[in-house]
Amino acid sequence: MDTPKFPIIFAGHGSPMNAIEDNTFSQTWAGLGQTLPRPKAILCISAHWQTRGTQVTAMEKPRTIYDFYGFPAELYRQKYPAPGSRELAQRVQSLLGADATGLDSEWGLDHGTWSVLLRMFPGADIPVVQLSLDTNMPEAAHYELAKRLRPLREEGVLVIGSGNMVHNLGVINWAGQPYDWAVQTDAQLKTMIEQRDHTAIIRFPSSSREARLAVPTNEHFLPAVYILALQETSEQFTFFNEDISLGSIGMRGFVSAAAGWGEAKP
Ligand code: ZN
Repeated sequence: MDTPKFPIIFAGHGSPMNAIEDNTFSQTWAGLGQTLPRPKAILCISAHWQTRGTQVTAMEKPRTIYDFYGFPAELYRQKYPAPGSRELAQRVQSLLGADATGLDSEWGLDHGTWSVLLRMFPGADIPVVQLSLDTNMPEAAHYELAKRLRPLREEGVLVIGSGNMVHNLGVINWAGQPYDWAVQTDAQLKTMIEQRDHTAIIRFPSSSREARLAVPTNEHFLPAVYILALQETSEQFTFFNEDISLGSIGMRGFVSAAAGWGEAKP
């Protein structure tokens, strides 16, 4: 039998507080970690690492990065001491092209990665590598680049994208009432994902006034593009955390997997 392709996940991470708050978002991530087969390693594409050219973390012990300001002290005490994997970093580099991808020894795990993994895989014992977002590339180029990562799914690697497809920090509404445009664009994106209309998704950020409000900058949107590029047409996918948080942050996530993966492990 062929090795089944490993599931892929896009997670809407939202506020860093989800790392330590026991809420529906973090509970869903924890539940996913218990359902998924145990990966050999994790590759995470986080919204919070943007570079010139593509970089992949290659250090043995990536540090936990506190790339946020003004949060409670408890959040800064969190650590996610998962090992790195030079082997996976080099594999990613060879898949993406050695001339176009640098091995990084400076970054680590930013909160896009660790806030989700702290709940999903709390043991922090699976090697984690991060991939950066090249700020020079348009959405379509990111999609094409991401396709080259497909073989990882047959090598026991869990690829996770962490961002928020709808994400406008400038108009956050602490009272929590979602904006109409946020609800509308989140629903449009859901339909496009269901219809596997990846072309429309790639063009989405500049497609309308509402879309420009939902995706004022594309760094939180792109991790979803990476995951969609890895999706096989025969796969089933499941949405989770279908909510708008703080008025303007879409928490929607999805898992894409071959039929039967969810039942493979209790
Ligand atoms: Zn973020």
